Amino acid sequence: MSAPRPRPGFPARLDRPAEAAPRPRGQATVPPRNSAPAPAREAAVARQPQTRLTPQGLGLDSQAVRLAMVDKLAAQGIRDARVLDAMGRVERHRFVDTGLATQAYEDTSLPIGLGQTISKPNVVARMIELLLAARPLREGERMGRVLEIGTGCGYQAAVLSLVVQEVYSVERLRGLHDKARENLRHFRLPNVHLLFGDGMEGYARGAPYAGIIAAAGGDAVPQAWIDQLAVGGRLVAPVARAAGAAQVLLVLDKTAAGVQHSLLEAVHFVPLKSGIA
Ligand code: SAH
Repeated sequence: MSAPRPRPGFPARLDRPAEAAPRPRGQATVPPRNSAPAPAREAAVARQPQTRLTPQGLGLDSQAVRLAMVDKLAAQGIRDARVLDAMGRVERHRFVDTGLATQAYEDTSLPIGLGQTISKPNVVARMIELLLAARPLREGERMGRVLEIGTGCGYQAAVLSLVVQEVYSVERLRGLHDKARENLRHFRLPNVHLLFGDGMEGYARGAPYAGIIAAAGGDAVPQAWIDQLAVGGRLVAPVARAAGAAQVLLVLDKTAAGVQHSLLEAVHFVPLKSGIA
């Protein structure tokens, strides 16, 4: 995705759904903010020190700047300690070209090749926070399988791998699928499954998913995603307010009674495209 537009305050909330967004049964609701305690970055980092993703070399040099990024995320309103912890552990500079590495911890989107971009850290954190807020989890419990549409360079998949049980990530561009595989090899994340294909079809073999997160936005959410979402699951995706219009974040919850959704702040993601290339 490319640089999201500034949010209208935080947390931005829209109490009415946009006309163009899919509106199946159910009342639009604002998703609950995560109830995790206020961010204590130190506490978050200390919680799982054994799984810190700082293998060798550059990792140590980047630790301080990454933790400064986490402080900024907390100041911007990211509350979930699990998310802050994961953002502090994944070495974002390993996912961008060497020439861009010095910008890796700035709150900016960056090119990753083939006309695509890695999302701003703030947007990655925000979307994962929304995803995890689907339902309260017991101490030590993780959200189950999550489907990511748009692997890109693999950064968000790496962050997700630290907070959910399994990540299935689909990319339609062969070049980026290969690049993500290369980038992620370094981290050895056995719970990340990279798939090459058209994510508009979801990935039925991994369904049902506790969560679906999209890094590319279309005019509507493909029915396949809703079908592949578990009852009790949550989908977070950019969606256009009207055909070709500006995007907002959609949070959709699938319940036994139907589907409920909320539209949140404006975002600006690359387009969701069909087919592979
Ligand atoms: N999460 C990524 C962001 C990548 S940008 C990261 O951390 O780097 C969004 C990606 O979505 C692009 O790579 C684009 O090729 C991909 N994309 C767009 N439409 C898609 C589709 N139908 N299926 C799979 N990937 C898609």
